[in-house]
Amino acid sequence: MKVALITGITGQDGSYLAELLLEKGYMVHGIKRRASLFNTDRIDHLYQDPHDPNQRLKLHYGDLTDSMNLTRIIQECQPDEIYNLGAMSHVKVSFDMPEYVGNVDGLGTLRILEAVRLLGLTNKTRIYQASTSELFGGLPENKNERGFYDENSPLYPRSPYGVAKIYGFWITKNYREAYNMFACNGLLFNHESPRRGETFVTRKITRAVAKIALGLQEKVYLGNLDAKRDWGHAKDYVRMMWMILQADQPEDWVIATGVTTTVRDFVRMAFGEVGIELEFKGEGVDEKAFVTACNHKDFQVEIGKEVLSIDPTYFRPTEVDLLLGDPTKAKEKLGWVPEYDLAALVKDMMQGDVALMKKDVDLLKAGHEILKQAE
Ligand code: NDP
Ligand code: GDP
Repeated sequence: MKVALITGITGQDGSYLAELLLEKGYMVHGIKRRASLFNTDRIDHLYQDPHDPNQRLKLHYGDLTDSMNLTRIIQECQPDEIYNLGAMSHVKVSFDMPEYVGNVDGLGTLRILEAVRLLGLTNKTRIYQASTSELFGGLPENKNERGFYDENSPLYPRSPYGVAKIYGFWITKNYREAYNMFACNGLLFNHESPRRGETFVTRKITRAVAKIALGLQEKVYLGNLDAKRDWGHAKDYVRMMWMILQADQPEDWVIATGVTTTVRDFVRMAFGEVGIELEFKGEGVDEKAFVTACNHKDFQVEIGKEVLSIDPTYFRPTEVDLLLGDPTKAKEKLGWVPEYDLAALVKDMMQGDVALMKKDVDLLKAGHEILKQAE
């Protein structure tokens, strides 16, 4: 039985990857952080009784800032594959805690690589490093002649997150070259799902739209609506992580859809899923969106209602204006074919959030209070 270790197993990608590897018959070890409340919501459906001798999912307490702990876990598991997905993954938050991000997202990668080397597992253990399109920084002059970012595009990160991840990228490449390790970077463009963290823009939008349609929220405040992202579905992207480690040679790969869309158009598409059409008026911080039609039998939102405003709090000190990836190499060399396009992704996320928010409506009807979360 193949053995995999996933850091960040409690996150969006970690949870889908754990599902995929269990389906493929792997023994899956995951590192979870100790928290004062359970933080395993995304993988609770995969829970297996630790007393079951056939258990194939085992969680270990750990942290990417703790070398000794990582070394002990890797020694215990003797993994064939390590997927280093653990990270403080929020670009905006990285401006608030740059040192921590450097430690976890940058040095954390080194700790994994060095543990594998010191334990003498360089010939056995293949390593996937969760690199990111944020390394490209969105500079127009760095696109290829077709207008995309690919494996040869220059890197120019524009946030403490991107700068920490560029260390992870280069140290992975360096260990591959210096010690002949099977260590690969996946330069993944943004990927989303109903399990996406609530403060990333797509999930913030789909949650808000579901709440607005159900009368639980008046409006949503967003930042830069002009930013463009190449959004795919996390399920497609974790399949690619696995394929990268099954390749003949260790290499770095760009994973993207090859289509880019503004935040504004994502908003339009999400409202469209609940039958609401919008008109955007004004410019810059004064831009707002109003309802012009509401054509869904289950949702009634007043025509003319203001449902979106700009809050400059969500602007970033340095922004990545546009991301658009060229996945040709992954498609041609590994045969990767994504199942979801953007419309299917938005539908999946909206269905998830409408179902979730309907539970809140039921709770309210039954006289209970619902949690109000800051976004
Ligand atoms: P999430 O934020 O959903 O998950 C991050 C995971 O890392 C969580 O399990 C989190 O644990 C864990 N983690 C955070 N800090 C530490 C730490 N100090 N030690 C150990 N584990 C830690 O991210 P995603 O699943 O979306 O992304 C997976 C990886 O891919 C990340 O490295 C991210 O930066 C990268 N990436 C993501 C992209 C995307 O669009 N989703 C695009 C490109 C790269 P906890 O649950 O306890 O918080
Ligand atoms: P990122 O690409 O990893 O930074 O993913 P996010 O989902 O956090 O942000 C995607 C883009 O949406 C960025 O260009 C943000 O500036 C923009 N954006 C606009 N409004 C918001 C907001 O309210 N929250 C977040 N997270 N991003 C926003």
